[in-house]
Amino acid sequence: MIRALWFLAKVAVLVAIAIWLAEHPGSVAVEWGGYVVETSFAMMVLLVVGALGAAALIYRFWRAVVGAPGSLRRMSRSRRREKGYRALTQGMVAVAAGDAVTARKMARKADGLLNEPPLTMLLSAQAAQLQGDEKAAREYFNAMLERPETAFLGLRGLLTQAVKAGDRVEALNLARRAHKLQPNTPWLLATLYDLEARSGDWAAAEGSLQSAVQAGAIPAEEGRHRRAALLLERSFEAERRGRGDSALYHAQSAHDLLPGFVPAAARLARLLAAAGRHKPASKTVERAWRLGPAPELADVYREILAGYDPLTRVKLFEKLAAQTPGNVEGHLAVARAALDAELWGEARAHLMKALEAQPSQRIYRLLADLERTEHGNEEAARSWLAQAATAKPDPAWTCRACGAVSHEWSGLCGHCSAFDSLEWKTPQVALHLAAPAERPATSLLPPMVPEPAR
Ligand SMILES: [Zn+2]
Repeated sequence: MIRALWFLAKVAVLVAIAIWLAEHPGSVAVEWGGYVVETSFAMMVLLVVGALGAAALIYRFWRAVVGAPGSLRRMSRSRRREKGYRALTQGMVAVAAGDAVTARKMARKADGLLNEPPLTMLLSAQAAQLQGDEKAAREYFNAMLERPETAFLGLRGLLTQAVKAGDRVEALNLARRAHKLQPNTPWLLATLYDLEARSGDWAAAEGSLQSAVQAGAIPAEEGRHRRAALLLERSFEAERRGRGDSALYHAQSAHDLLPGFVPAAARLARLLAAAGRHKPASKTVERAWRLGPAPELADVYREILAGYDPLTRVKLFEKLAAQTPGNVEGHLAVARAALDAELWGEARAHLMKALEAQPSQRIYRLLADLERTEHGNEEAARSWLAQAATAKPDPAWTCRACGAVSHEWSGLCGHCSAFDSLEWKTPQVALHLAAPAERPATSLLPPMVPEPAR
């Protein structure tokens, strides 16, 4: 509508000019080089307008001719970029498909076509890794460190390589550098916690663990368990440094965090007893026993009650076991106290009840002990031992990551050095229990495997 009105207005103006020219006739004479051109004023105006139009057309044509090489260059550049991105995409697909040869070919092609080092360097590094060329991949990752926009990706690549190679010191160093660049990356926080814990830097690991839980990289429940394990290790460390109050404080914190965590309860009870506080020590064991009877709690209870005479100890153990009636650990704890007090009948009764509830190797071994000490009956003892050899193994601290079995709890698995990986359960196969002193040295450990981010 507006356009139509505008057109009509233009026509009206032209008509008005034509009428005006017709009403005001006149002539123009031009003299040049001996020629005289005479014409009407209207024709002169027409000629001038025509000449201006022709000049504009010529100017546009000239601009197009002069600008041609530039636009050709632009066209070819955009075609190169298109080809480069296509190569990059094909390379990424090849990486995802595990096709190392195509990945590397496309990486080189994309590198030649595109001026996008952040993208092509990462593809080149991944392609090199696929071909097993870790050295070339490391060179790409190192080159990526030189540009701020790719430094984090480079560190991530180097970190993955260090973890794979089992170089824990280098891995921790790289993780800390990456953490400075991107402090809130969930997987990095979880990795940092894991590396710090494996290297025994308990306090730093506790801080990283808290951030990892906050970032959602580690579930809260799991985070609580790991924190209790870290606090317990801090308690052991404080004791090694001769700081008894700090040892007690950290054991108490671990126990408060997870009251049913047997190693924390046992540790706290031992430290309390060592400080002469026998009453709270006993209470700690009794409370923990109600949450879950365990042989270690019975061991600690025996240590705490060492000052009593054997008969009183039997009475106190009976009271402890009465908290969880019928539990196999309760029968075994009372049986051992009865053996100490030479109450053979009571010991036998509890062992037979334990055998009925859940036969296992240590019950047969205790029955063999009983036969030997009560009557000196070697034949009966051998018969019980023979049954022990084929019985189900007893629960022990078993590593979730590598399956290694240990008598004692510790934060780090003595075999694969995973942190907080020990579970109290019956081992899958009857393994020889390695005493803590017989554990392999740390330098002989297999490469560490980072726990998948959950
Ligand atoms: Zn392990």
